Amino acid sequence: MPFYNVWIEHVALDLNQTFTYRHDAALERGMRVKVPFNHRELVAIVMEACEQPDDPSRIKDVIEVLDEQPLLNEELFGLAAYMADTYVSSMMSCFKAMLPPALRPATRRASVVYEDWFVAGDSTQPLTKKGQETWERLKDALPMKASAFRKLAKSHARSFLERGYLRVEKRRKESALDLPEKEDQTFALTDEQRDAIAQISASSHDVFLLHGVTGSGKTEVFLRLAEQALSENRQVLFLVPEIGLTPMMIARVRSRFRQNIAIYHSQMSASEKYDQYEKVRTGEVQIVVGTRSACFMPFSNLGLILMDEEHDTSYKQDMMPKYHTRDLVLWRGAYHHCKVVLASATPSLESYARAYRGVFELVELKQRIARTMPAIRMIDLRQEPVVQGFSQSLLDAIARRLEKKEQVILLLNRRGYLPVVKCQACNEVITCPDCGIALSYHRSNDSLMCHCCGTVYAFDHTCPHCGSKHFFNHGMGTEKLEQRIQSLFPQARIVRMDADSTRKKNAHARLLEQFENEGDILIGTQMVAKGLDFPNVTLVGILQADAGLVRSDYRASEIAYEMLEQASGRAGRAEKEGEVLIQTFDQDHYVMKSVQNHDYKSFFVREMQYRHLGSYPPYVYMATIVFSHDDLEKAERVARQAKERLDGVRVLGPIEISMRMKKKRVRLLVKDKSQPHLETVMWDLVHHFDRSNVKMEINMHPLMLEE
Ligand code: ADP
Ligand code: ZN
Ligand code: ZN
Repeated sequence: MPFYNVWIEHVALDLNQTFTYRHDAALERGMRVKVPFNHRELVAIVMEACEQPDDPSRIKDVIEVLDEQPLLNEELFGLAAYMADTYVSSMMSCFKAMLPPALRPATRRASVVYEDWFVAGDSTQPLTKKGQETWERLKDALPMKASAFRKLAKSHARSFLERGYLRVEKRRKESALDLPEKEDQTFALTDEQRDAIAQISASSHDVFLLHGVTGSGKTEVFLRLAEQALSENRQVLFLVPEIGLTPMMIARVRSRFRQNIAIYHSQMSASEKYDQYEKVRTGEVQIVVGTRSACFMPFSNLGLILMDEEHDTSYKQDMMPKYHTRDLVLWRGAYHHCKVVLASATPSLESYARAYRGVFELVELKQRIARTMPAIRMIDLRQEPVVQGFSQSLLDAIARRLEKKEQVILLLNRRGYLPVVKCQACNEVITCPDCGIALSYHRSNDSLMCHCCGTVYAFDHTCPHCGSKHFFNHGMGTEKLEQRIQSLFPQARIVRMDADSTRKKNAHARLLEQFENEGDILIGTQMVAKGLDFPNVTLVGILQADAGLVRSDYRASEIAYEMLEQASGRAGRAEKEGEVLIQTFDQDHYVMKSVQNHDYKSFFVREMQYRHLGSYPPYVYMATIVFSHDDLEKAERVARQAKERLDGVRVLGPIEISMRMKKKRVRLLVKDKSQPHLETVMWDLVHHFDRSNVKMEINMHPLMLEE
């Protein structure tokens, strides 16, 4: 049949509409073609062959076929359709998210970058004495990158080539990620590890939540499960949150499986990504380790999916389609009939709730391998003053550790929280009477605003609880703290890790290496809380522990709990006993209590009550709709019209939120008990609502409410 429906790449088209073209040779679903459209030539993806249209004379011809084979197999097509449905986004945006840049619909296949390698030739021509010596020294190291060889024997390389001792071979450039080399260590499994593996292997469930406290040896469990899958000739997908943050984990996986892995993450170049993609597609490697976009790798026979730190927010894509990696791997796991293991020391509330109800099977590792959990001590800032960020107790503890030549991590919680208002006298935070979350201060009109319902309150700079006029001001930067701590401990070697110091490629890994080898104190934002395993760290100090508790977001407590628990997990991981000091005004808060007792379950139960009362996930499904335009009033008007149209769901707002790309923005928050119903309502809006040139962006199941 010579007629085909295709999706067209076009910025202005965000609907899932297809168009019909003619082509006389056979086309397969998933091939890219070039087609005429509105006097332009655009790239399109073939969906299916179709019946002859009513008026075939009006149908234009395909200009060019760009692929010999479909880019996406049937499984990945199904995944795209699922993703488009679930996240209310276009098929084209899903294809783009799924394919490595070099294969995206708009572009031609990028040339893969090759580099020169030297391999040994079979020459017997005579060499000079010096030349002979050099050759003897280097020949066993071949093949070698030409540039590396030249570094070792610059003056000889040319004559070796001329005399046929060396030949040049073009090889595909390897990923530039430079990872610390690690020796492979295999351990005799602990009883808990063995039980966990046995439980997962023997179970008839497909999806597991591995809740293992920090330092309980989850990695070794992953590696053993991966070995099992490989021995059955099946592939393994191993997802990690952010590559920069997990160089140690990747190094460990690589040291076990060597050549058999592809690494895929956002810091790679387009050609590196293409290379890794091809390695998987052609079956050259069986294991993929990577960040969220690795969940789209073209596997043919997946046997296991591991998702480490499953609670991590980097698994949610923040551009369209705003997918959550967890949803997609659950879909792929079901497709391949393989096991999916979600793992964390601080699981997301959503996942734990599912495990609680038996949807996922819960697997627990309750004990640390080397030691007991570190002792946690609260420093009550109502009793003890902080001077420029530090209490005396914390300074004393740092001094003691430095004296013993042990290492210290200091953590400043400064995750883009809004300026909430907290009374210095009675310690109360001013909250919205309707929503129960903290109000945030807006300097521009000297008022307080609720970022959930949008109500604006006058602020008379007086505490409604006690009448005091003194309020706290959180917010000392890492740089200032570094200066202060350096002046107090002039001998200490300090490594600072924050958004500024980690901007460059590989900076993260380098700073960590620097700290491991020659640092005394690592000071940083919440990024230092994640995944680090340094045996000599015995003290973790948390400077502004409360800052997270009062953030004006329904997930504030979950994020705060996770951060504190993960951070305290960095202390005392090996033989030496660890301690954690938390500076807080609020030691009786249930988050603080749960952290103190390392008791996730009690945190979960309390937090679920709060979510239930406030109608928040996992009790309801949520979506946000952001309208943006130059003209604020117009954006608001259209948002209000959309609200009218949204039938049978709860809608909060519109509220004005911060500008983005020079556009004024307003937001609606939508809640509903039924996920399919929420999707239907949103699709109706996309298809039938006239938004008169106001840009509308939907975020299904947002992790963070845009502010
Ligand atoms: P988690 O990811 O659960 O925080 P890790 O996998 O990093 O914990 O393991 C914590 C430490 O225990 C690591 O240093 C690891 O090398 C070590 N380890 C893991 N399993 C064993 C074992 N069976 N025997 C001895 N040491 C182990
Ligand atoms: Zn007060
Ligand atoms: Zn409110």
